[in-house]
Amino acid sequence: MVFQETGRDDVVSVNIAGELIDFVVPRFCLHCEQHLPVDQLFLCNNCLHHEPRLDTLQLIDLLYDKFGFELITWMFSVVKFNEQSPFRTMIHFLKYKGLFNAGKYLGEILGNELKTKMDISEIDCIIPVPLHRLKIIERGYNQSLLLAKGVSLVTGIPILQKAVKRSRYTAAQVETETKAERHLNIKGAFKVTDANIIAGKNILIIDDVITTGSTIREVAKELKEGGVNELYAVSILVT
Ligand SMILES: [Zn+2]
Repeated sequence: MVFQETGRDDVVSVNIAGELIDFVVPRFCLHCEQHLPVDQLFLCNNCLHHEPRLDTLQLIDLLYDKFGFELITWMFSVVKFNEQSPFRTMIHFLKYKGLFNAGKYLGEILGNELKTKMDISEIDCIIPVPLHRLKIIERGYNQSLLLAKGVSLVTGIPILQKAVKRSRYTAAQVETETKAERHLNIKGAFKVTDANIIAGKNILIIDDVITTGSTIREVAKELKEGGVNELYAVSILVT
């Protein structure tokens, strides 16, 4: 079967072929395993909408807790982390099960919700948290870049991919236990490759999950030293 190239190639191809595929491979919600209508992907509408979104006061609390009102001007996450969250299920499939299409899907959700909660008109570009090249080889892709592509698609904000690199291979943040360990693990892991392309810009940093905030804080420190103006941090989940 040949699918036409479009900006939403994966989504469109699934929709066109959906009814046919349903006969061959029944499609189920990845979280609750209910059968999915042909116009829905990955999550059923119930799973997609049932979690409460973070309100402004919660986001202010989180901003202070993770970044102490320094470095980061404003942050946004779709939902608070919990073990039963359908978004947690999706991130798990994206990071550990090779379901790369989930990246753009989640990114579009993130971008659409972001637009309603934040003034994005002043943002010049998106920087996904970089992965070390060995990690990209291991996983096959950078999940934050895939999220960024979805956000870029619905907001029109361009992605700046090569401005920051991860210069050190680090243990996965989930494998580090304390806040201090997480900070040491990630300290000095990022380097700005070309300060000229970021100087004076307002930048949105994207990660899949914000835990202690130390990963984004390290990226942010480097970007600030490179002369960036304002920084915003967004993610799907926040702990
Ligand atoms: Zn479901």
